[in-house]
Amino acid sequence: MLQPSPWRADFPAIAALQRQHQTYLDSAATAQKPQALLDALAHYYGNGAANVHRAQHLPGALATQAFETSRNKVAAWLNAEQASQIVFTHGATSALNLLAYGLAHRLEAGEEIAISALEHHANLLPWQQLAQRRNLRLVVLPVDASGHIDLEQALQLIGPRTRVLAVSQLSNVLGTWQPLQALLAHARAQGAITVVDGAQGVVHGQQDVQQLGCDFYVFSSHKLYGPDGVGVLYGRSQALPLLRHWQFGGEMVQVADYQSASFRPAPLGLEAGTPPIAGVIGLGATLGYLGSLDASAISAHEATLHQHLLRGLAERDGIRLVGAPDTALASFVVEGVHHADIAHLLTEQGIAVRAGHHCAMPLLNGLGLDGAIRVSLGMYNDGDDLQRFFSALDQALELLR
Ligand code: PLP
Repeated sequence: MLQPSPWRADFPAIAALQRQHQTYLDSAATAQKPQALLDALAHYYGNGAANVHRAQHLPGALATQAFETSRNKVAAWLNAEQASQIVFTHGATSALNLLAYGLAHRLEAGEEIAISALEHHANLLPWQQLAQRRNLRLVVLPVDASGHIDLEQALQLIGPRTRVLAVSQLSNVLGTWQPLQALLAHARAQGAITVVDGAQGVVHGQQDVQQLGCDFYVFSSHKLYGPDGVGVLYGRSQALPLLRHWQFGGEMVQVADYQSASFRPAPLGLEAGTPPIAGVIGLGATLGYLGSLDASAISAHEATLHQHLLRGLAERDGIRLVGAPDTALASFVVEGVHHADIAHLLTEQGIAVRAGHHCAMPLLNGLGLDGAIRVSLGMYNDGDDLQRFFSALDQALELLR
């Protein structure tokens, strides 16, 4: 008998979904939101919205203060040295595009960008397109059978021509933690700039960017139980000034005339236009909520559920796991049955899982797959959710085989 999730009641949408006969097992795509976030959004919008960093009036001062308080909270959450190292974007995707544009001027034709074979399209395509534009070489670090970047080969492939290493911390398809410590140390010793896509990793255990030793770390708020439309780019103090300004408009400018302009440094210089104010304030409230909980209890709960998920899949005939997931999710295929058919029957039974290529087409193709089913867990899931999933899966397989 698995323990219920002590935090389930903090997420009102879980009960609402249950009333709609939906079991939500797709948190790696986006997570449900805690009441603390809903309260923060209602408070901000209910008490007077205002733009930040520009108005002298009271609502503007309050919004700016709340916005900058969130920047402090994010910095503390990641153990950044200073709040000014946190740049707000519109998501992990826009943070990675910012990096691929902002670093372009540092790369010469023939130089190399290294990514891994398991990257989400968000950490593949910005670099691939940059490589095409600038005649660079995109080096793809191979992944071993368990779903981890092959360290031995990676250390050979990352050399003095490598100018940027950009890799995921936790694979959104394979659920595997990547050997970042060794990879990042090696890349930095070669003089490369290091970028970590923390979109999945940030959700499972608090990450310490100083310990990680990366130049840049990005994530999306919406996967970390926060609002959508907000992303975070952390940069090391020495790394942030390497970025060229990439989007131009209000608030990022120091002085402008018709023919020329000068720009602010990060973070504001990289936050052109009105930022997602309510979302940033909501992310701060979400971190406040998460920070009040026992992180080790959340990890233990997720680990127990994950074991239960893996055991249940292993007990069923014909199911093949994709890789050997370390945490939080499991992707699988079933011999002789198309993933889209299983997904259809799971959906009909109210099971919300993800099916397809999971925005990692080259990885799936490399594994000889055109798609897989992914079950992903959040802190609010419990044993009953998995039981409903397995009985729906059994029903589906009975019909399809
Ligand atoms: N990187 C990884 C590993 C992801 O799983 C995702 C989203 O699924 C992203 C990047 C992109 O995040 P977003 O769509 O929030 O920008």
